[in-house]
Amino acid sequence: MNKMDESMKQYEVLEWASLFLEKHNRETKVAEVLLQHYLDVSRSTFFTMMRERVSASVQQQFEEAIKTHAETGKPVQHITGYEYFYGRKFHVNENVLIPRPETEELVQFVIESTLQNNPDQPVTIVDIGTGSGVIAITLALELKNATVYATDISEKALDTAKNNAASLGASVHFLQGDFLKPVIKHRITADWIVSNPPYIARADEPSLADTVKTFDPELALFAEENGLAAYQQIIADLPDVVKPYSHAAFEIGFEQGESVSTLLKKIYPNSRVTISQDINKKDRIVSAELV
Ligand code: GLN
Repeated sequence: MNKMDESMKQYEVLEWASLFLEKHNRETKVAEVLLQHYLDVSRSTFFTMMRERVSASVQQQFEEAIKTHAETGKPVQHITGYEYFYGRKFHVNENVLIPRPETEELVQFVIESTLQNNPDQPVTIVDIGTGSGVIAITLALELKNATVYATDISEKALDTAKNNAASLGASVHFLQGDFLKPVIKHRITADWIVSNPPYIARADEPSLADTVKTFDPELALFAEENGLAAYQQIIADLPDVVKPYSHAAFEIGFEQGESVSTLLKKIYPNSRVTISQDINKKDRIVSAELV
């Protein structure tokens, strides 16, 4: 079935899309996400509708979206305008990194650690390079006693993050500037520094998927010094924004655990640095209590 026709049922529309996507070496599960989006139904309703006919207007929008994704690699999240993170819907666009599930694990880690250490005490958290705001906003909503600051160098990213905070009802203080610089400028002392900074080495650019390389902002992906430049800058500035026993937690590329630990140890020789793995058993978080 190479063409869609007016009377197609949902499962037939999906079959058409899967074949089209396969031909272009794209993931076929994209079809379900997009069709559900245009039908504007919940996931469970979607699966009860497989034998129903899809209206011509939905078919048309869906077909166009499938073709755009298949032929150009434009991410589904840029087509629909959102991605889910920690169970909430965040607006995304070409100015921010599309949030990744690995980052949900970083957020989970911080939530569990802060609650464990300090269930009721107020805590000040700073998210560096907030992008769409997913980390800062989720922490602000999940941790009732947290005061959350978020920085980004990109005004356009901050606009997106502010929009997300407003639509989700989160209170986050957004500051424009390079990594920790605005935090230093405002003399904020943080109990937790959290960041998913750019960490891809320039040399790895050719191996990235076109959906990533062409559509995620360069600023959000790449760092000099073999991917370590952002950690170097952030860690060098830590002493100006933390106090003894504050914590830092960074998302890392799966081969960067040792290098980032070493950077922390250089400034905080007595701190206990931990490297944690993600659900795929890859090193993904470096964290430390800064003593
Ligand atoms: N903090 C945002 C996220 O984790 C953006 C990260 C980035 O742009 N490197 O999705």
